[in-house]
Amino acid sequence: MSFREIYGQEHAIDLLNQAVQRDRMPHAWLFTGQANIGKYKTAVALAQKLNCRKCGEDACGECDICFQIAEQNFLDFQVLIPDGKFIKIDQIRKSLNWLHLHPDQAKKRVLILDGAQHLGREAANAFLKTLEEPAPNTLLILIADSSQQLLETIVSRCQQIRFRPLTEEISERILRDTTNLSTARIQLLSSFSMGSVNVNLAERLELMETVQQTAIHWLTTFSAATLEEMLRTCETWAKSKNEEWRLLLDFLETWFRDLTWLFRGLPEEKLINQTVGSDENCISSLRKSGEHFTLQQIFEIFGLIAESRRTIELNANKSLAVESLCLQMYRRVV
Ligand SMILES: [Zn+2]
Repeated sequence: MSFREIYGQEHAIDLLNQAVQRDRMPHAWLFTGQANIGKYKTAVALAQKLNCRKCGEDACGECDICFQIAEQNFLDFQVLIPDGKFIKIDQIRKSLNWLHLHPDQAKKRVLILDGAQHLGREAANAFLKTLEEPAPNTLLILIADSSQQLLETIVSRCQQIRFRPLTEEISERILRDTTNLSTARIQLLSSFSMGSVNVNLAERLELMETVQQTAIHWLTTFSAATLEEMLRTCETWAKSKNEEWRLLLDFLETWFRDLTWLFRGLPEEKLINQTVGSDENCISSLRKSGEHFTLQQIFEIFGLIAESRRTIELNANKSLAVESLCLQMYRRVV
């Protein structure tokens, strides 16, 4: 992985290149932004660039060091991810000891903390000491969704780069390059991914299509009978391990975003939900569904969706949270 293979994050890569060129590399970077937009890939590409044998403008991606870093098989490169729910104190201690050793072959020893928001309290404090007294020839790269999830004392000792959501064009381009999916399915995937590229979702396309079709049936009729059907389905979804409930929340967000577009008379080609399944046209369904809502109600529904996500993240009863979302939506409108 080299910088030229990362799409849509030119701003971040420019900042990193400038730091290298001007010899102003901080001892710790903090990469923030939503999941699956290239933060980790950029971190690996930076480690390669700093250590590549060819010392070019970008990592060559082919020398033994670039290769070993990509394989996480290089003595001077480590990636730390949560062990269970947290990055634990023992993990941090081991890595920090390693970090303080003299680099074996590298110009810079690089430690990536992927999921830095999961640092436990003790681990965060141990880590803070290293940030205050960094070892020479080392680089730390922390990756998190948002800086608000980290201790302020950690954030203030890192140089932060905010990664941007991907445009639909870019996420579709990445999916075209990395999968063999049809154009319609690529569009569906990129609309569900909302500014990111989640290749794992490709394996779940059928499931996504089922969720989409079930929800659209409900959203276009919005009657007591279809509400009951929807609630029953939600109950089974919340119990299954496939996370249909998450796909449902993602889908509802795209659907109501599209309705606000339609209400404002914006061009139809900008709608996320243009097709259902592989080819069935979706725009007439959107119009039909739009008859049930006002713009004000839609904004309230966005709030309800966000609230359901938070409740579920706090390990609440998924079935109850998703059902109560559907019920609240229904009550608001009818
Ligand atoms: Zn190389």
